[in-house]
Amino acid sequence: MPMATGADTEGDETRVYVHQSCGSSTVMPAEVVRRYQADPWHYLSDQTFCTGCNASVPDQECVWVDTGENLQVYFDRLRATTAPRQSVFLLVKLGLTLIAIFGLGGGLIYAGVAGKKGPVTFDDVYPGLSAIGAGLGLIGLLYWLSRPPSAE
Ligand SMILES: [Zn+2]
Repeated sequence: MPMATGADTEGDETRVYVHQSCGSSTVMPAEVVRRYQADPWHYLSDQTFCTGCNASVPDQECVWVDTGENLQVYFDRLRATTAPRQSVFLLVKLGLTLIAIFGLGGGLIYAGVAGKKGPVTFDDVYPGLSAIGAGLGLIGLLYWLSRPPSAE
């Protein structure tokens, strides 16, 4: 039998804000609320939609109906408590680094093999393979060094 979770129930997460310039209220969809609560850096336009104006308006001109807080102040406060998604930046950096490593290694392997007549030996690909290995080893070392002390 499905049970309600009582006090932990998140319920309806929609929030209503008023565009002060025109006085119209707009409901912030629950999906949007969840998204910026999970990642306040997701919406960076500092604008929101006003159903009265039927247009995007600055967060600065809007206040929450329930708390009276300015939306811009609210979002700035949320962002102040949450660092930008470091993991995303790190993943992008890691991806670019991997591309660079395999590009370099692949280039070295190609250089060793390209002009080669006859069978390719280990010596031909060794510089490229060692560049890839050194690069991956360096990433591993940096990852190990960058782990927070409290991890695990
Ligand atoms: Zn408006």
